[in-house]
Amino acid sequence: MFKPKAIYYEKEILEYPLGKQLMEQYEDVPKVEIENHNNIEEMRKKENKEFPYMKQNLIIGVRKTHKFVENHKTSDYLVPYTSSGCTASCMYCYLVCNYNKCAYLRLFVNREQMLEKIIKTANKSEKELTFEIGSNSDLILENTITGNLPWTIENFKNVEKGHLTFPTKFDMVDDILPLDHKEKVTVRVSVNPEEIINKVEFGTSRLRGRIEAINKLKEAGYKVGILIAPVILVENWKELYLELIQRLSQELSEKVKKDAFFEIIFMTYSFVHTKINEEAFPNAINLYSKEMMTGRGRGKYMYKNDIRKDGEIFLREQMQKYFPNNKIEYIV
Ligand code: SF4
Repeated sequence: MFKPKAIYYEKEILEYPLGKQLMEQYEDVPKVEIENHNNIEEMRKKENKEFPYMKQNLIIGVRKTHKFVENHKTSDYLVPYTSSGCTASCMYCYLVCNYNKCAYLRLFVNREQMLEKIIKTANKSEKELTFEIGSNSDLILENTITGNLPWTIENFKNVEKGHLTFPTKFDMVDDILPLDHKEKVTVRVSVNPEEIINKVEFGTSRLRGRIEAINKLKEAGYKVGILIAPVILVENWKELYLELIQRLSQELSEKVKKDAFFEIIFMTYSFVHTKINEEAFPNAINLYSKEMMTGRGRGKYMYKNDIRKDGEIFLREQMQKYFPNNKIEYIV
């Protein structure tokens, strides 16, 4: 389990069972009381090069905003849930766009309130809704600290309507395997070539572990999805992604191959990433390419259309060859 250097906490967390549990769990870790998890002055003032060290802390608070955002990919709503941020440091992490260098792991202890809102919305709706509960963090990682996933699944499984989904780059799924989830949860495991995991996705699980996790989840009856994401067009990308797809086709179980779906997402990047990464990880590879990328507003970059299109054609061809029966939900 993650052992933080220090815990920054709002004192209201002690009014919640999970807050008390976490404070006991980390009894021997230094604590700093804070007013508001969104504004920790000490953290805001740190230099970019401190980014990986900042991630060694844990912030615990009460989530105050509970706004659901409509979504049209693999869910109907993106839902703020029990955490934001992460202890890992993928160099492209989308959370850095939202939280800048404060993309450290924050846990929110008012989980009863958050799950209740999901359940009410699900029950009120005429159609069956899917809620994406992991768009702000990695719940498999978070679960190793809070045990929130078994709690969530146990409390959601008998709800009349609705479905939960979340993505992950971690393989610590054993906790949720024995649960009676009643097929109400889809876990989407994100994969990348091992070389890219090593060079870019610092602190996440290895490819082998992620593939094993997919097989185990399927065996336990979960619906599973596979994200090839983000596709990063490094020099030898064709070779790497072909190897990845071949390896998936060899190592995924027949059960997974029968009905798992895919999502494919090309990397987007930003000026903020460039600044933080060059100071925090000076020896890492540079993910920004002036030749291959173009702006897409507010300091964000994406691969140029023709380059992305070439990538898409290549990936569709390989997927057609190795996974002819599996649906690609989208490529963006
Ligand atoms: S695992 Fe996910 S949330 Fe964590 S740093 Fe990587 S992309 Fe961000």
